[in-house]
Amino acid sequence: METNFKRIESKWQKKWEDKKIFQSKESKKKKFYVLDMFPYPSGEGLHMGHSFVYSLGDIFARFKRMKGFNVLYPMGYDSFGLPAENAAIKNKSHPKKFTEEAIVNFIKQQKSLGLSYDWSRMVKSSDPKYYKWDQWIFLKMYEKGIAYRKKAPVNWCPKCNTVLANEQVHNGKCWRHENTEVEIKHLEQWFLKITNYVEDLLKGLDKLDWTERAKIMQRNWIGKSYGTEIDFEVNGKKWPIFTTRPDTIFGVTFMVISSQHNELMDLITKEQKNEVERFLKKIKSTSEKDVGNLEKEGVFTGTYARNPINGEEVPVWVGNFVVADYGSGMVMAVPAHDQRDFEFAKKYNLNIKEVIKGGNIKERAYTGEGVLINSEKFNNINNDKAKEEITKDLAKKKVGKKVVQYKLRDWLISRQRYWGTPIPIIYCNKCGIVPVPEKELPVKLPEDVKFGKGNPLETNKDFVNVKCPKCKGKARRETDTMDTFVNSSWYYLRYTDPKNDKRIFNPKKANYWAPIDQYIGGPEHITCHLIYIRFYTKFLKELGLLKFDEPALRYFTQGIVKGADGEKMSKSKGNVVEPLDTIKKYGADSLRLFLVSVANPDTDFSWNDKAMQGGLRFIKKIIEYFDKVRVGKSDARTESKINKSILEIGEYIEDFKYNLAVIKLRELFDVLPEETSKKVLEDSLKILHPFCPHITEELWERLGNKKFISLEKWPKADKKKIKELFEKQDLVISKLISDVNQILKLVKGKNKIYIYILPNEKELYDIGLINKRLGKQINIFTVNDKSKYDPSNMSKKTKPGRPAIYLE
Ligand SMILES: [Zn+2]
Ligand SMILES: [Zn+2]
Repeated sequence: METNFKRIESKWQKKWEDKKIFQSKESKKKKFYVLDMFPYPSGEGLHMGHSFVYSLGDIFARFKRMKGFNVLYPMGYDSFGLPAENAAIKNKSHPKKFTEEAIVNFIKQQKSLGLSYDWSRMVKSSDPKYYKWDQWIFLKMYEKGIAYRKKAPVNWCPKCNTVLANEQVHNGKCWRHENTEVEIKHLEQWFLKITNYVEDLLKGLDKLDWTERAKIMQRNWIGKSYGTEIDFEVNGKKWPIFTTRPDTIFGVTFMVISSQHNELMDLITKEQKNEVERFLKKIKSTSEKDVGNLEKEGVFTGTYARNPINGEEVPVWVGNFVVADYGSGMVMAVPAHDQRDFEFAKKYNLNIKEVIKGGNIKERAYTGEGVLINSEKFNNINNDKAKEEITKDLAKKKVGKKVVQYKLRDWLISRQRYWGTPIPIIYCNKCGIVPVPEKELPVKLPEDVKFGKGNPLETNKDFVNVKCPKCKGKARRETDTMDTFVNSSWYYLRYTDPKNDKRIFNPKKANYWAPIDQYIGGPEHITCHLIYIRFYTKFLKELGLLKFDEPALRYFTQGIVKGADGEKMSKSKGNVVEPLDTIKKYGADSLRLFLVSVANPDTDFSWNDKAMQGGLRFIKKIIEYFDKVRVGKSDARTESKINKSILEIGEYIEDFKYNLAVIKLRELFDVLPEETSKKVLEDSLKILHPFCPHITEELWERLGNKKFISLEKWPKADKKKIKELFEKQDLVISKLISDVNQILKLVKGKNKIYIYILPNEKELYDIGLINKRLGKQINIFTVNDKSKYDPSNMSKKTKPGRPAIYLE
């Protein structure tokens, strides 16, 4: 009888939902928090990558539940954001309507995968009940000086029509528009002072169970370096210059200020004005990542800077290769010992002064070690030592000091777009910046706005024109919205108390469930989201709401599911496989099984129809087995196998080696006998359950059980029943059978099989077992058997663990 997977799947999905079996409550039990990142609900719905990552999380959550933990496994929607706004504009819809429809579709699709989420805890970031607390956190940050406003050079994407955070600029291009150069603009913007937490962010990494690669990526992003700050004087004003090479200070022959610097115009002399303006028009954006690849260009400002160590006056140039917000936005140039400065000096015919002996500075800069020359009292000191000595000397004269510098910048959160959390701020001509009083939250996003020209929120006058909360005079509401990464920086906490309308969450609940014990997501989140969420956690701990300061103790990064051609799935390549089509064709359990069995889940793999069908065949085989099996006694060999499987599969799941767990499951079902005990049958279903939740529920019920297998305990392995001899036999016989079948496939028309084994392995190759599992009669000889039948001397090829095979 053909199995109706669709019927079985909807039956159990409905039962799980009706009985609310995955809803979790705080209890005395030990908790375990598994979290899949909440998705942006795109109009296209669930794609294969989603199916993969949710399968990973669900297997883990189901496993932990069976292991006796009180599991929290929620789902929600990161439903604010530019893609929804753009898609809505394109489809002449409203982002709200568009998003609501997309979420309904998403939920339906997720449910069809059999995911064991606690749906009662769902959150949606575009819901005012949710973003109210974004605004509340913002006000708290404003109170503590963590949220602040300043004019700054910002990354502007002309396609997105909004500013981007540094984390959203990849190689000078927009993260959403691979071919769009990011421009630099000077705007008044809101920032979050993430740099206050930079040391905590670094130190916290040490206690996390993340991959070394993920930790290194975060450390590099934070980018800590030691150096010296030296006060140069320009027009009577101090300019602290950061350098890692104070040993070369006598070799400074010019300075370079960033072309994006706020105060650049103050430095330009009348004579140079035209030339500088021409230059600024010519060059466009410079972001940090680009600096290395740029053609270095610059022009003289007309102004000079005074070197504090010897009083020398050197020209200040403006250049396109200095980042505005690194240090003070001006650098000292030492062309003799820095290749970039060297090229610049050569190009514009500037002085080159050698201060470290060693290289030939006519050809290129010398960046190696050596003793100082042309450096007055520091001459003949090794340059490494000179770094210290010169820094000390500058410090004594109060014109320099040792400093630590970081690459991490404050987080720019202002977005000139509609579909995001409104920033709860009011501007009053009299009172200045006035925060919206807490009791007036949420500042609701108005629905009535016009798209297409500038910032949509500015088109709703009722929203914009307000009374000042302080003086009751006329005032203007902030029309920028928050970066959507704000929404995802604390959502994991809201799940612990999602319906609370009095507080952001009850700290008791948050501190019971959080931090996340197992977080699952893509590697692309390591530098954006995972830095922000750590920062928010540290801030909320400071408010006294949390007892911990790291949000995710363990982070697993999944691989990518590629098309059958090995390329990224994309509509233009025509290699997209839709999860829903696949579920219709093969069933959700087969899809889940396939997704986790092709490769180790942290590596990329390609879609493979054959392997997909292999998953389906395996499931059908299990169903057929349960149809036929006689419930009775179990033998020692089966007892050994099931107990070993319980142990191994549990360990593999714990380590996210799902592919190896599936291999063990296949081996187990390969050898289960026609008659065995009910316990063996039940245990085998239990350890299959996290992978194939629907058919295991069905077969569990057919065995006469009234309760859900989803709520059963993971079986306890009885180690005493594991017999190493049986296990070794299984291993070598499986290998032998697969070899024989391989050969039988290649050479047709043979039916007599001869096997030659080493005498000391005789015990392993049990002929009865082999015959039974192969379904054919074989002949076994030990190689030293004088009377063996061996016409082509095949027995000579026998190796330990690898019998020779001869067919006739
Ligand atoms: Zn863009
Ligand atoms: Zn006022």
